[in-house]
Amino acid sequence: MTTITFKSVKKRYKKTPVVHGVDAQIQSNEFVVILGPSGCGKSTLLRMIAGLEEISDGEILIGDTVVNQLEPRERGCAMVFQNYALYPHMSVAKNIGYALKVAGMPKDERGARVLKVAKSVGLEPYLDRLPGALSGGQRQRVAMARAMVREPKVFLFDEPFSNLDAKLRVAMRSEVRRLHRDLGVTSVFVTHDQTEAMTLADRLIIMNAGRVEQIGRPSEVYHNPASRFVADFIGSPAMNLIEGEFDAHGTFLHGAGGRIVSDAGRGLSGRKAVLGVRPEAVRRAQPGSNGAIAATVDYVEELGASRLVYADASGSRLIAVDTGTAPLPSGTPVHFTFAEQDIHVFGEDGRRIETEASRARQQVDADDMSITA
Ligand code: ADP
Ligand code: MG
Repeated sequence: MTTITFKSVKKRYKKTPVVHGVDAQIQSNEFVVILGPSGCGKSTLLRMIAGLEEISDGEILIGDTVVNQLEPRERGCAMVFQNYALYPHMSVAKNIGYALKVAGMPKDERGARVLKVAKSVGLEPYLDRLPGALSGGQRQRVAMARAMVREPKVFLFDEPFSNLDAKLRVAMRSEVRRLHRDLGVTSVFVTHDQTEAMTLADRLIIMNAGRVEQIGRPSEVYHNPASRFVADFIGSPAMNLIEGEFDAHGTFLHGAGGRIVSDAGRGLSGRKAVLGVRPEAVRRAQPGSNGAIAATVDYVEELGASRLVYADASGSRLIAVDTGTAPLPSGTPVHFTFAEQDIHVFGEDGRRIETEASRARQQVDADDMSITA
């Protein structure tokens, strides 16, 4: 049973603050992904758990123990990096078993432990090879085996797959998920890749510029982003975000004369806001149909099974996922519509404004959880 708790954790390098007070709790056996753009403080947070960086302010607890003053080796964490830094002159077996040797474990016991771990990551046939004779994926497996062999209480991963090609990265993801299922060790995985994060995580901690934007399950952050930043960061293609203002009747005015009529504007008369709709929620509509938004095609991106239509709606960019096949050359007039329940609203401070639709989405998500629980 190993939880990790962050209490108002801050980090300054010299005088420069880079982590501004993080509060979060990671459950025992949970797989949590810290996601955010480069430079937002992900590695710093991870290294503070491991004890590789000092904590400037606040506390980190592993289980019930405040670890601020503990040495890295006293914390029970094993870390897997992007640069796996294997010993080039040592065989795979020796690389995996090295930490156990240093710890003074007898040879027989060590050998058995190395073999067991090597089997679990499919490295058994390569135990006598040198790292130079392995593929990138196999080397990353050695790095994982080296972390696993110490039977840590916590696994920490810092963008371990960024050096691998796309196909291998996908394969390694499911491998990490399987290992987590088999071993059940509390894991924190750092990445800037939202697809990787969504596929791996039980829960995500989404960071921006040293602050937590949102903590939630993948479906939660996708369907109910807490901020404009999260809405924009999660999902590919990114959510349409239209800047504008609600008029006295709650109609959303945007661009050069654009009007969107919906229930979202109730109680928001006169407020500046950002209206968000996912491209997959935007549909083509018949001209003149109720509430249809007139737009002009800019260009089309073919994806195979579907295509992305980039259009201009009264000066605001609108992207729609479209399954049609009829040609849509630049300049073609089109009409779009989307359902009330797919509308997101963000305020001037970038935070979500609750609407009937957002509350309904949260209810659906909560109901889904109670079914699977
Ligand atoms: P991420 O892993 O999300 O890309 P980092 O945690 O590595 O971000 O870095 C967060 C911020 O702290 C960045 O602005 C980075 O430049 C800064 N930083 C990281 N390490 C140091 C250091 N040793 N000294 C000074 N600044 C640092
Ligand atoms: Mg980093």
